[in-house]
Amino acid sequence: MPNRKLTEEELLRAREVLDDVRERLKKLSADDPDLLFAYRRKVSKELVYDERKKPQDRRKLKKFMWTLQNGMCAHCHKDMPLKRSELDRREAAKGYVKENVELVHAHCHHERQEANGYA
Ligand SMILES: [Zn+2]
Repeated sequence: MPNRKLTEEELLRAREVLDDVRERLKKLSADDPDLLFAYRRKVSKELVYDERKKPQDRRKLKKFMWTLQNGMCAHCHKDMPLKRSELDRREAAKGYVKENVELVHAHCHHERQEANGYA
């Protein structure tokens, strides 16, 4: 299922939120560029976690899926070292939950993404 796209109206709302956040961070950092950098990085990271979960949660899920799939890639069905594996979401918006992911080789993941027009 393709990812939900924003309408023109929704894009405008998103830009307003972004403008508000930028303005608040600017005020919060009171012209201190290092503080602005730190606030921006923190907010950015937390928003990424809202979508992707924290790295330790994804690592735990990877290990779980690797065991479930008997160390085999869900794409090419060959042996796959845990280190060289990546989680592939069936539907991005459903997130990194076991019902929505498969563990695949990094190169197989890239093949899938290219085939879906994401890369
Ligand atoms: Zn593979």
